[in-house]
Amino acid sequence: MKKNIVILATGGTISGNASCETDMLTYKSAVLTVDSLIDSMPYIQNLAHVTGEEIAQIDSCDMNTEIWLKLANRINELLRSDKIDGVVVTHGTDTMEETAYFLNLVIKSEKPVVIVGAMRPANAISADGPMNLYNAVALASSQEASGRGVLVTLNDTINCSREVTKTNTALQDTFKSPDLGYLGYIQDGSSHFYRFPTRKHTTQTEFDITGLSELPQVEIIYSYVNSGLTLINSVVMAGVQGIVYAGLGNGGIPEFIKAELVKCARNGIVITRSSRTGSGIVTRNGAVDDDACGFVSADSLNPQKARVLLMLALTKTQNCTEIQRMFWEY
Ligand code: ASP
Repeated sequence: MKKNIVILATGGTISGNASCETDMLTYKSAVLTVDSLIDSMPYIQNLAHVTGEEIAQIDSCDMNTEIWLKLANRINELLRSDKIDGVVVTHGTDTMEETAYFLNLVIKSEKPVVIVGAMRPANAISADGPMNLYNAVALASSQEASGRGVLVTLNDTINCSREVTKTNTALQDTFKSPDLGYLGYIQDGSSHFYRFPTRKHTTQTEFDITGLSELPQVEIIYSYVNSGLTLINSVVMAGVQGIVYAGLGNGGIPEFIKAELVKCARNGIVITRSSRTGSGIVTRNGAVDDDACGFVSADSLNPQKARVLLMLALTKTQNCTEIQRMFWEY
């Protein structure tokens, strides 16, 4: 029996069109419809019964909370139906990792959800989109993908949405899960898993987006030599509920900035320490005494993913001990 897979399109390079086949980098994203993508690959119907729907038609630089909520609600609705076995989301690669981790925390189904994109526009020489989309449908149709949280595939690899990140501006081999590695590979339409995500996801999380129309405001502040207080002051003035501080090394913070962030924490803004290094754990009470300062450690989440979890955490509580628990669990 063939599985029923729905492709939800949001745009990106996978549906992009270049003015000529050799234009790899100055093309227009999000031009082709999902039906035209599916129709251009008749062999995809050998893997599963595949249909498509448009959720958005954007470059993923323009992704926003409104589209996230629409996408997540639609996936939850589709997967509640006995007639649907899995969902594939086509997405631009620039913010794909944030959308993937968001969905990983709010989708309430064990059925496969796979996010896919491409680095080359659909009409370029050696476009990677068709192969990536074929793999995504194969993965979403596979039994092994159930209960593994939201997965990301590009370039024949299977990645965990918590760990995967875009590491190169232009190469097809850009998605990596630093230090921790891929979950597996896809070859000739078959998925091969070697590891599984260990953190809680999808049906195991406490997050419920039903009825939400927005998420709490959380901003990221990046650390560097001689940084000042201007950005912190401005996000505080804007009324943020949380700040992710992309700290130095193991989440280190210059003393005068730390003093300002302690003031923010005392005023109810949740301060979460991540790292600008790109991998590794931010040790709680390591470079900074989080207990004394009232801060949260982002564990091994990069700043953009720490922001996703902090926004969702703030829909439940402002208590830092509880939020720290969520960072250890998810
Ligand atoms: N700017 C594009 C996007 O994120 C890049 C891509 O899809 O690869 O939509």
